Formats: sequence, C-alpha cells, structure tokens
Amino acid sequence: MASGDSETKPMFKRLALIGIGLIGSSISHAARRAGLVGEIVCSALTPEERERAEVLGLVTKAYADPVEAVRGADLVILCTPVGAFKTVAEAIGPHLEKGAIVSDVGSVKGAAMRDIAPSMPDGVHFIAGHPIAGTEQSGPDAGFAELFDGRWCILTPGPDADPAALAKLETFWRKLGSNVELMTPEHHDMVLAITSHVPHLIAYNIVNTAAHLERVTDSEVIKFSAAGFRDFTRIAASDPVMWRDVFLNNKEAVLEMLGRFSEDLVALQRAIRFGDGPTLEKTFANARAIRRGIIQAGQDTAQPDFGRNAARTGKGSA
Ligand code: NAP
Repeated sequence: MASGDSETKPMFKRLALIGIGLIGSSISHAARRAGLVGEIVCSALTPEERERAEVLGLVTKAYADPVEAVRGADLVILCTPVGAFKTVAEAIGPHLEKGAIVSDVGSVKGAAMRDIAPSMPDGVHFIAGHPIAGTEQSGPDAGFAELFDGRWCILTPGPDADPAALAKLETFWRKLGSNVELMTPEHHDMVLAITSHVPHLIAYNIVNTAAHLERVTDSEVIKFSAAGFRDFTRIAASDPVMWRDVFLNNKEAVLEMLGRFSEDLVALQRAIRFGDGPTLEKTFANARAIRRGIIQAGQDTAQPDFGRNAARTGKGSA
C-alpha cells in the first residue's frame, strides 16, 4: 500500500489524464500522495469540470482538447466513459510522445483494446487497465487518494506488449495502492460481467420495478426502504452514461451471464412455489459462504453498513 512518500523520484515527468471524473481525480490524488509524477494535466469536456480540476489542485492545467493534454506526456491514461475511447484515441494518436505509455481505466477491456490500440503509433506502448475500485459518485470532487488502496487493478496487455512498459505500469498501480493482476481482455470481461456488470443491471432493474409498482407509492418505497433495497438504490445511483457504455460494449459476456442468472432465478422461483425449503436454505448458505470469502480476502469488512460507509471505502462500484 502506498503512503505519503515525497522522497520518491517521480516515475513519470508528465501525466495526462483524459477525463477527470471519479477515477481520473482519484489517480491524481493517489499519484501525488506517492510522489509518482512531476506534473499532472488533464482534458475534460465541460468548462465547469476544467475549472473544478484546477481549483481543486488536481492538475496544473485542464485543457478542452485532449491533444493539448498529451503533448510531452510520458504517461497518458484515458479516464472517460468507454464509449469515448475510439474518438479520443484517434485524436491523440498522432500527437503522442515516442516512448509514452498509454493506458485506460475502462470497465470493459475487449472494447478498450478494439478502440484504442489501432490508433497507437509505433514506439508508443498501449496497455489497457481497469482498477476494480469505485463508488457511485462522479466528477472531479468525488475522487480521493485512498480509493485504490488494497483493491485490485487488472491489466490486460496484448501479446506484443513491451515488458519494460508493462513492468513500469504495474509498479505505478502498486504505488497508487493497488494489487495488480494480469489477464486477457476476454477473461476480464467475463469475470467482470458476473461480479460487476450484471449486479449493476439487477440494481437498476429492481429499483425501477419498485418505482413502477402501482399499489405501492413512491413515498412508501422511500419511507420503508429496507436494507436490501437501500443497497440496491446506492448501486443504481451510479453514472448512467458510464453504465450505458459498459452494457453496449460488453454485450456477449453480459448476455451469457444474464442467461445463467435467469436459469438460477427460475430454480429459486420453483423452490418457493413448491415449498422446497432445503433448496432455498442450501442456496442461501452457499451465498453466505461467498460473502465470508470476500471478507477473508480483505475486499470488504464484516461491519453492518447498509451502504452508509461504502462511498469512502471504494467498495461501491467498478
Ligand atoms: P465520471 O466521474 O463520470 O468522469 C468521466 C470523465 O470523462 C469526465 O471528466 C467527463 O467530462 C469525461 N468525458 C465524458 N464523456 C466524454 C467524451 N465523450 N469525451 C471526452 N471526455 C469525456 O466517470 P468515472 O467514474 O471516473 O469513470 C471513468 C472511467 O472509469 C469509465 O470508463 C468507467 O468505466 C471506468 N471505471 C469506473 C469506475 C466507477 O466505479 N465509477 C470504476 C472503475 C473504472 P465531463 O464531466 O466534462 O463531461
């Protein structure tokens, strides 16, 4: 885990963050905490966000044009929604410094490889990445230095990835506080479909189902929201654009996992209909054991929380 370490020689002279929302701003905080970079700049779409990034001291300069941001940068990280990757990569490609490392934090890795890699010129090292850490908050004010502490960052290097660039990016993420694991983009997208993408879809769906109930008013849904429902509403508060892009870009894996989920749901439905208590109890006991495994692996605490503390611990969303 990284700690305040101002003695460390910066690993990179100029870091360009393309997009400065929750993840971009958290990288800025964590990179500063560990003294990893000389200068941090960014690009952001709206003037409000650019001003905020500068006022908060996340960057020395926030540009409207990503091309301006990548000039002279030896590390560039795309922190926009996945759907913007292709346009951004095509714009910055011809302006990247020779020897620069380019990465991203997108939640879908097949799409990142498909949309970014073709625009990378010779001599620029592209290695896709995904920090498995997040909250349901967005924007530059949402970031904090501890977001990545003790969390996983998955890198999905292509077969021709430069070993030295990969090792450097791995070290960068470790110094941001993360554990690092390498896998193929396809495997990443399958694993995240079940651990993150389908759960978000279920949360969006259940909150809307409750809202559409004719015999339960909106105010009753809010007033009597029990812990289970409240947790779903927290997840369902995640950024709509980011999640739209996740589902549009991880279609196959999400549909495969949704198919399996639906089959298992029907089995539970049958058990309820036919009063099959042992099946219900066995299924719930298996799920409880998985929760214990997550706590033992240090990926959450056993404290009852009901969603109240998750936003500051990076356990919310990914
Ligand atoms: P965010 O807080 O909404 O920030 C997104 C940033 O991208 C903003 O600076 C936004 O600028 C900019 N942006 C949006 N559309 C753009 C476009 N078309 N072109 C250029 N810039 C654009 O989002 P985030 O939560 O940091 O997520 C960023 C990335 O991290 C996504 O790819 C997501 O899949 C991934 N990720 C998210 C989480 C999570 O839990 N949130 C976790 C892990 C990875 P404006 O606000 O000015 O439009």
